[in-house]
Amino acid sequence: MPLYTTNAIVIRCYPYGESDKIVTFLTKDFGKIKAIAKGARRSRRRFQNALDLFSHIRLIFFDREGMGLVRADNCDLLHSFPRIREDLKKILYGNYYLELVNEMAGEREANSEAFDLLLFFLSALEEMEPQEEHLRMFEIRMLSLFGYQPNVKRCNLCKRDWRELRETPSLFFSLERGASVCESCSSALNSVIPFSLGTARLIERISQMDLEKIRRFKFTAQALSESREVLTKFITYHLGKELKSLKALGTIKT
Ligand SMILES: [Zn+2]
Repeated sequence: MPLYTTNAIVIRCYPYGESDKIVTFLTKDFGKIKAIAKGARRSRRRFQNALDLFSHIRLIFFDREGMGLVRADNCDLLHSFPRIREDLKKILYGNYYLELVNEMAGEREANSEAFDLLLFFLSALEEMEPQEEHLRMFEIRMLSLFGYQPNVKRCNLCKRDWRELRETPSLFFSLERGASVCESCSSALNSVIPFSLGTARLIERISQMDLEKIRRFKFTAQALSESREVLTKFITYHLGKELKSLKALGTIKT
């Protein structure tokens, strides 16, 4: 049976039968894969705590079929993110990162940049106080990596570029189009959300920004509330459901 090795992050894990676990990984080289870890509930020695949520591991697995479940053979724990696990607010942030990735990533579709981005944001969460800007920046960058980057440079219908206008335009974000539209075009569409030119520019800027700059980047209060509205509604619209971890985040003051 072919044996593979890759770096991986545990994004879901649940017990299976009396002694096994089913684990979903986001891997560096193979995208999202689901694995059965035989005996993981019985033998602590073999997998230690490498199969807990958030764990960054070196995974060795067998894959006979090239489809369906793989068999986890061995895991070396690289980093367990202990400071996320001991802080409720960080756990809620982290759970949202994991759930969003799990929903957006297709099985066995390699996307090494998505892996790097998840690892980057988990590391930031480990090292810094949680800040709401990080949720929004994570959303913008993940949407881009999976091909759903919000298109906010111009009106998606009449194509007017926001930079060509003299006065500040009234903008709307169309959930259906994943793009901005001008006021007069917005009347032809359902599901539009008003937002400002400043927030449109911010979303555009974040999608290009160097990751190291992102860590300490701050939004204005207006940009925070508008980007929360636009991005979370767009994601809910796109996935066809509201994420549980997003609801849980709503119960705390972010
Ligand atoms: Zn227009």
